[in-house]
Amino acid sequence: MPSRSRLGQNFLHDAQAIQRIVAALGDCSHCTVVEIGPGRGAITRQLISRAAHLIAIELDPELASQLRSALSPERVSVVQQNVLEFDFAAAATSAGQRLIVVGNLPYYITSPILLKLAANHAFIDQAVLMVQREVADRVTAVPGSRDYGLLSVTVQLYGPVEALFTLPPSAFSPPPQVHSTVFRWRFHPRFQELGLNETGFLAFLRQAFALKRKTIANNLRAAGFAVECAGHALNAASIDPRSRAETLSVEQLSGLWKELTARVASTTP
Ligand code: SAM
Repeated sequence: MPSRSRLGQNFLHDAQAIQRIVAALGDCSHCTVVEIGPGRGAITRQLISRAAHLIAIELDPELASQLRSALSPERVSVVQQNVLEFDFAAAATSAGQRLIVVGNLPYYITSPILLKLAANHAFIDQAVLMVQREVADRVTAVPGSRDYGLLSVTVQLYGPVEALFTLPPSAFSPPPQVHSTVFRWRFHPRFQELGLNETGFLAFLRQAFALKRKTIANNLRAAGFAVECAGHALNAASIDPRSRAETLSVEQLSGLWKELTARVASTTP
């Protein structure tokens, strides 16, 4: 476990912001809500009376123990664990429904947490998450914008995202060095609709975005696709070989991947 000073412990003390986060979850009176990093319980206390059941996952043993003694075990299960090891499938199975996730995330592991939630999409209905503003900008970015990249496509493949509001460092104690943004993520994966194999397409995305500021044709070449095969696939997908992956929509990238895999399959003995 990282030292306490490195656990991303910036506690939210802006009462209005806490209300807005809780309100963003909507009616959760019949839901099991999982809170990531409850800390001193700022959001947790407001959620208790609203959720049917609350599971609060806190890595810091001291904070977890304080929460356990302060909150009714009938309404809140405090789990002292690394959220990256939490079993969302088991929690959803025992709840008998998909979970609602909320959290003012520990920023040092934002991306691993987002990927963990994506991997558990089948067990989560929606998440309302506070992240560093720059990360929210990337997650919600549209093709061709400054912040659009691998993280944007990956997150958006698992469902629509929507930025809700931004807070200054003064909303937290101690204040972090960055602004923070709350966003909502509804889990409706697009793999089936787009006719994609999840693992294969995610691997392809990592290749397509590997070399920043290089053309898609260069990235495909670096990934090992033969120049001719890549050229035909780009042409069939109506993509200019000089474009960069950062300008391509999920639909264009999925069209390209399908053209490439069809060509690779037809040339493989
Ligand atoms: N929710 C509280 C609030 O808004 O005031 C605290 C948020 S604070 C930004 C992040 C919390 O996540 C801290 O309490 C920290 O101890 C906890 N944390 C850090 N790493 C964690 C991990 N890997 N798993 C679970 N909790 C973690």
